[in-house]
Amino acid sequence: MAKENANKNSSEKSEIKKLKSKLLTERKNIGKNPATNQPEQVEQAEKFCVGYKRFLDNGKTERAACKSAVEMAREAGFIEYKPGEKYSPGAKVYFVNRSRAVIFAVIGSEPFQNGMNIIASHIDSPRIDLKQNPLFEEGELAYFKTHYYGGIKKYQWPSLPLALHGVVIKEDGTSVDVEIGEDDNDPVFTVTDLLPHLSDAQYKRPANELIRGEELNLLIGSRPFVSGEESDSVKLAIMKLLNNKYGIVERDFATAELEAVPAFKARDIGFDRSIVGGYGQDDRSCAYTSLAAILELATPPKRTALCVLADKEEVGSQGNTGLASRFLEYFIADLVGDSYEMRRCLANSKCLSADVCAAFDPTFPDVFEKNNTPFMNHGTVIVKYVGSRGKSGTNDASAEFVGEIRRIFDSAGVVWQTGELGKVDAGGGGTVAMFISKLNVDTIDVGVPVLSMHAPMELTAKSDLYMTYKGFKAFYSA
Ligand code: MN
Ligand code: MN
Repeated sequence: MAKENANKNSSEKSEIKKLKSKLLTERKNIGKNPATNQPEQVEQAEKFCVGYKRFLDNGKTERAACKSAVEMAREAGFIEYKPGEKYSPGAKVYFVNRSRAVIFAVIGSEPFQNGMNIIASHIDSPRIDLKQNPLFEEGELAYFKTHYYGGIKKYQWPSLPLALHGVVIKEDGTSVDVEIGEDDNDPVFTVTDLLPHLSDAQYKRPANELIRGEELNLLIGSRPFVSGEESDSVKLAIMKLLNNKYGIVERDFATAELEAVPAFKARDIGFDRSIVGGYGQDDRSCAYTSLAAILELATPPKRTALCVLADKEEVGSQGNTGLASRFLEYFIADLVGDSYEMRRCLANSKCLSADVCAAFDPTFPDVFEKNNTPFMNHGTVIVKYVGSRGKSGTNDASAEFVGEIRRIFDSAGVVWQTGELGKVDAGGGGTVAMFISKLNVDTIDVGVPVLSMHAPMELTAKSDLYMTYKGFKAFYSA
């Protein structure tokens, strides 16, 4: 009798187990799922991230990322797009928009009016820009005045080694590229912070003013030009150095774009090296995964594939290199030609707005709603909507389109999860999705979960990066 009961119990238990796995969603770490945690997956993710870390190191600004993406594409056989030229299926072209944004295209075998598969991400990241009149001397130290770019927590930026990147346009119109602080032999720059001993008053400031915008002054030198009583002698000495090296004068800063970014390189994080730590992973993690996917695309794909790396997302996508401008629309129009066909093309196109999403952070659980927050190592994130204050200012993808993406990912063995940006009233954010859906393109956000988003060092899991790349590849081939 006892044995019968035990048998009955165990068969009931297995019935419940079966029913559970059939009816309920089990949220699983890639590493805990025997189907996904295979040695070759770990190895492939590891290998994939070698190139990824190199891309992060070589592309710390939108200009640098654009340049390095084009170099990679040229190596893979992409050629510069010529407006007006007819391209046949299999052609691989790229179009650079003012050195700061780029579109890569692989022409498909189907007619354009069947639509394109587009993945759009951004290659600008939060940072500290120089003001147009930046140079000053105070207390016999020389500094650059700055104006930060994008949503940074200002207190995170002092006491870091910072590199300077950008371009200076001289009076005669010629330009000089600047990159100081990336080579191990280069000097770096830094923003000073107050010693704790004298910080009683600073500690009483609200956190967003712990370091104020006007206190983000970049220290650039301290040695005076001459002994004696001459004022601004340190400033003069710095300008003399810059003039020797770049042939520039102080006035040329007015026509320059100079950006300070963390000088450190991307590194593996953790004893198990499962995480990548590096600057600018929002959104170069999605830029790299989509770029790698289009570079490896078997040609010709059925539908024309587009990989868009845009600028200015961190300040609202405005400006002619951001996706609120019409450069993507005009590129597609030039490629497709006839305006009726162009409209059909857009209406039938599908777009993944590839951007990162905040991963659950166990140290700060209060801002996350666990059921709808992505976890590290749970795969690429499908984000149906972002926005704030009740889905305001967002593209909210249709259930039908989410269903399509789900089927593409499932049939390619892509591990995915859904999530949104924190609790309903905790804040919010935006992506480029709303600008692309404006073109009458089906659009949805998909990307990599990130810890410490917008910090000088952001974190992503290698297995999530790999799954995102795999998902993008499947999308381009669909
Ligand atoms: Mn982003
Ligand atoms: Mn961002």
